[in-house]
Amino acid sequence: MHFLILPLLLGVAVYFLPTFIGFRKANAGAIFALNLLLGWTVLGWVGALIWALTKENASNATILSSIGAITPASSACPACETSVPRGNAFCAVCGAKTPAWD
Ligand SMILES: [Zn+2]
Repeated sequence: MHFLILPLLLGVAVYFLPTFIGFRKANAGAIFALNLLLGWTVLGWVGALIWALTKENASNATILSSIGAITPASSACPACETSVPRGNAFCAVCGAKTPAWD
């Protein structure tokens, strides 16, 4: 049975790749939990990997929207960078037209 050990170790190493990448992050424990509990769903594994690769202060909403799990509730105004709620055609601060919502 020893011929099964190497592929098994490689599989475990690949499975926990997001945990290894995110090891030094402040939320390493949360990345490990997501990797361990939802890594078997491909989406959970990809989410943990993206989380491990994103910069430290990225919000959960940014991470979730990047994998298509949620649609963002707001978007930044192209002119003044103010957060514009989803569906608003114009920025409340500067009046600039916002990009079309899909
Ligand atoms: Zn604006």
